[in-house]
Amino acid sequence: MSTMIANSAPRGVRYQIALIGRRNAGKSSLFNLLTGQDIAIVSDTAGTTTDAISKPYELLPLGPVTFYDTAGLDDEGELGLQRIKASLKILYRADICLLVTDEQGLTAKELQLIEELQQLKIPFLIIFNKADISDIKNKDIDYCQQHQLAYLAASSTLNMGADQIKQAIYEIAPAELKQEQVLASDLYQAGETVLCVVPIDMSAPKGRLILPQVQVLREALDHDAMAIVVKESQLAQALAQLNTPPAIVIADSQVIKQVTQVVPENVPLTTFSTLFARFKGDLAILAQGADALDNLQDGDKIMMAEACSHHSQEDDIGRVKLPNMIKHYSQKQLTFDIKAGHDFPDNLADYALVVHCGSCMLNRTEMIRRVRECERRNIPVTNYGVAISKIQGVLPRVMQPFIGK
Ligand code: SF4
Repeated sequence: MSTMIANSAPRGVRYQIALIGRRNAGKSSLFNLLTGQDIAIVSDTAGTTTDAISKPYELLPLGPVTFYDTAGLDDEGELGLQRIKASLKILYRADICLLVTDEQGLTAKELQLIEELQQLKIPFLIIFNKADISDIKNKDIDYCQQHQLAYLAASSTLNMGADQIKQAIYEIAPAELKQEQVLASDLYQAGETVLCVVPIDMSAPKGRLILPQVQVLREALDHDAMAIVVKESQLAQALAQLNTPPAIVIADSQVIKQVTQVVPENVPLTTFSTLFARFKGDLAILAQGADALDNLQDGDKIMMAEACSHHSQEDDIGRVKLPNMIKHYSQKQLTFDIKAGHDFPDNLADYALVVHCGSCMLNRTEMIRRVRECERRNIPVTNYGVAISKIQGVLPRVMQPFIGK
């Protein structure tokens, strides 16, 4: 594995790195070696770590990360199962895992964990710990090479391996967290026209545009495109007056249905909320999740996930409008639970669908983690904007500009 780090993480990204493995594989000692502090309790007795211990760390030149030391995934007994549950919670949200094994090398347990990590699509590095006791076995080297698995040796006793592990972390980090995401600027060129459709109705804030609209306009100007803003009633006239069709039309979700009837099929069209679903999360998974709206059954539970607690209004989109739209669309007897806050509940598996808010208070990494947690636990997930487009029958049209991007 190369030891060069080509880049640093984008602004606002704090990688979550979980150390997992069998009890007494030396995770806590390795955690201390990596973070340079004696936070995790190190004991020769297997299964000492209960709740995951975390440590924020500046991993230069990569940037800020948080290391998590977890309990052994081979734990036993009632308390052991609770510890495993706590470890799994960390695992579902991890960006990167360090699978730590000891002088025993790759046992059946490690092979099982490798399979699970691959199923969960978590990039991982195998650490053959306790290198002071034993070299990596030839059969394990062969296995890693055959299966193209990244691995390193380490020993906290010999103070060995920490630098190589830190250097390897960036290389295996998920691509979507390494890239700065643009809003819409990959959908047009300098000199082209971006036509925005913004309704000015009762729900529009007085005297200003909302942040997503301002951000799209600012990005267009930064990229030397020409940004035009019209109300939906002026759209046909604006299109007729342009000598060249716009490179992209971006409309508010509320008026998207009527906008699709005015914008010719050959002109790319999307919504502000679709742009933000891509900017903040994984648009492909959110669009796929919206298909679950077609398969709902009587008695299904739907989680409306709000990323922050806020004062709800009478016609709140997540609590009133959208649940009503979904009931009407599916024609099924459904139950809606509102869950606000940072963590998904343990009973996530009870839900047929998670419909997430616009996540204005979350950064991209946090939202991607939430989307990934649903994916890893096999629960379809979509968000408000994508669900509205689906219900209005315009999802394929507003997704079209992103095909191949
Ligand atoms: S959209 Fe923003 S304000 Fe609304 S619940 Fe989500 S994070 Fe909070």
